[in-house]
Amino acid sequence: MNEKELLKNHITHINRYASEIKREVTLMEICGGHTNVIIRYGIRDILPENIRLISGPGCPVCVTTQHDIDCIVECARHGIPIATYGDMLRVPGNKMSLDEIRGKTGMVFEVYSASEVVELQKKYPDIVFFGIGFETTAPMTAFLLDKKICVYSAHKLIPPALKMLASGDLKVDGFINPGHVSTIIGIQPYTKIRIPQVIAGFSAEQILRSIRILLELIRDKKPIVVNGYPEVVRQQGNKNARLLLKKYFTVVDSEWRGLGVIAKSGLEVKNATLNAKHKYYDTIKNVLPSKKTPCRCGDILRGLIEPTECPLYKKQCTPKNPQGACMVSAEGSCAIYYRYGK
Ligand code: SF4
Ligand code: SF4
Repeated sequence: MNEKELLKNHITHINRYASEIKREVTLMEICGGHTNVIIRYGIRDILPENIRLISGPGCPVCVTTQHDIDCIVECARHGIPIATYGDMLRVPGNKMSLDEIRGKTGMVFEVYSASEVVELQKKYPDIVFFGIGFETTAPMTAFLLDKKICVYSAHKLIPPALKMLASGDLKVDGFINPGHVSTIIGIQPYTKIRIPQVIAGFSAEQILRSIRILLELIRDKKPIVVNGYPEVVRQQGNKNARLLLKKYFTVVDSEWRGLGVIAKSGLEVKNATLNAKHKYYDTIKNVLPSKKTPCRCGDILRGLIEPTECPLYKKQCTPKNPQGACMVSAEGSCAIYYRYGK
């Protein structure tokens, strides 16, 4: 079958299963990379009426809390050199963003890889790495801890969030699981969540295929996990990466933007001397907890509304003047909607 026939075949099966299920079905894609492909190819628009596809908390920048951003901004304001990944710099904190401090002190650094932080440490021995993201990026942060680089960890784990979403008020019938995260954790951690799930790659064909498989599983009432990305994801994941995580991090309860505290969903640095939250406790101890703003990122991350339903969307909030994390990150739902002219 060529690509065109393959896509047609998926759509035919999706329509057939949807009519056989005979009720509303809600599927959630977890990964921001998937949301990007879904919007770009208009996949939501071609699904049968009873199939709803919503975006989940799959962007590392979007789920990082206001409080963590305010803490790292406070460190930067006190002249502590900070390194982190690009999009994070522009997310507005309560007082300012890291980007604004960069303009003032020149001590905030945008990096693309762990090795750049190792290089920076030679010049700035006190550098703090602001570690964000899921199981995909956490092994790189563990590598930095191995090099004795101080870390402020806002790392999060995906399976506990899925478990919480599956048992909440959203009534999700199936998940499209993130491809990159799965290369690290493998398949087993998902099996404890008893709803249909498909691990998907990042092409439109792979996403349509995963929707087709999910609908078949839902129709047949099979709450299992299917690896739809076997060319990259192995049953056991990446054992070395997981050992690194175990060596340098403790699993803790963690607050997610918009989702609240999720039990055992965060990674905290084990070694207190390399943990910026301990080392700079006096600097950040008066930072206030996250406060409520008119930004609806939280509802977007729980799939309760679409970006276009946020009153600030395209008005006060644009990629040039983001009011919340979902408009900052390239993987944030609001930025993706904006980019494709929704
Ligand atoms: S890091 Fe990878 S798996 Fe995670 S949300 Fe981004 S693209 Fe998806
Ligand atoms: S449009 Fe802006 S203000 Fe509204 S939810 Fe998205 S990021 Fe937040």
